[in-house]
Amino acid sequence: MAEMYTRSILTGVREVRFEQVPIPEPGPTQALIRVHACALCTWEQRVYAGVERDYYPLLGGHEVAGVLVKAGERVLTQARPGDRVVAAMLPRCGQCVSCRRGLDNLCDNAQTNGPGHAPAGPGGLSEYVLVEDYQLYPVYNDGVPFEELCLAEPLACVLRSVKKAAVQPADNVVVIGAGIMGLLHLTLAQRRGARVIVSEPNSVRAEVARALGATAIIDPTREDFVRRAQELTGQGPDVIFCTAGIPEVIEQAVRAVGKGGRVMMYASVHPRGSRITVDPNLFHCREITLTGTMSQSREDFLQAVSLLSNRIVDVRPLVSAVYPLSQLQDALEAAISPDTYRVVVSMQVKNPGRYDHETKPGKPQGACL
Ligand SMILES: [Zn+2]
Ligand SMILES: [Zn+2]
Repeated sequence: MAEMYTRSILTGVREVRFEQVPIPEPGPTQALIRVHACALCTWEQRVYAGVERDYYPLLGGHEVAGVLVKAGERVLTQARPGDRVVAAMLPRCGQCVSCRRGLDNLCDNAQTNGPGHAPAGPGGLSEYVLVEDYQLYPVYNDGVPFEELCLAEPLACVLRSVKKAAVQPADNVVVIGAGIMGLLHLTLAQRRGARVIVSEPNSVRAEVARALGATAIIDPTREDFVRRAQELTGQGPDVIFCTAGIPEVIEQAVRAVGKGGRVMMYASVHPRGSRITVDPNLFHCREITLTGTMSQSREDFLQAVSLLSNRIVDVRPLVSAVYPLSQLQDALEAAISPDTYRVVVSMQVKNPGRYDHETKPGKPQGACL
């Protein structure tokens, strides 16, 4: 009889169930990973909290780091069984027009759960997970724990955003929102040599942004965001990243950004179908760009794994708490609380606790990205 493992299922609003299922055998192009850490992304949080209800029953968990157990005979990877790996769980077909144009983050078939995928979700909140060969990223460095490596997926998404915004040295950048995505934007934009201002009404979050190097904080509930952003930057910001998906925030960003500036919509806006109103002459007279990014390409993911595994980007301040899989429900409750950044489910802990940062992280250093 096959050996069994535990997997979790989000079955309804604030409902989590566990089940024992046989450990699968990887097919020729698949790899079996023993999961060591899986971070709780906003998507799983929204499904758990009932904001998005179309996914039940969901095998959640797409921010996965672990150890390669077994690879099928046609998997071309340098990783050997026992090696540390990170998984990019977003399915992409590699054959559609988007994939072939280099926009595999927007794969036309991403929703169809290609061959080998359980129809009910990525399934990283489990002891084992089966992935396709192209989803496997070896980690070439032993120094960084799984609890940090599993942040490769969100880091890759932010890296895409910062690259697309073409942040230049000495640019004035405003990041709207100091949740984990805002703080990752802050960190990566700084590494490109930008001066970064953060807009955040929550004073605790604002302080964390300041500690990570934000040169000024705007409180949009007390100050006029547009006027303040322009005052602090002279001509208006070169780039504004919207990590809060609020239509009014996007409208303000479009008004505040400087000539030739870029407004990047990083966050999705809910409910879907929301509208914004902007003066179209801003595009003509000020040559501003309003665009955004979704998810990450393979190149972004590859770069994010390297940034993390070499601690070129230090995410230790962003791992708020670590929970065992058996306490997934408590972990999800902690994750949706505004007091946390990333909450990580770790297969290596028995009790919930703060993430042991080992050493105090230093300010970012070294070359620009
Ligand atoms: Zn994610
Ligand atoms: Zn595709």
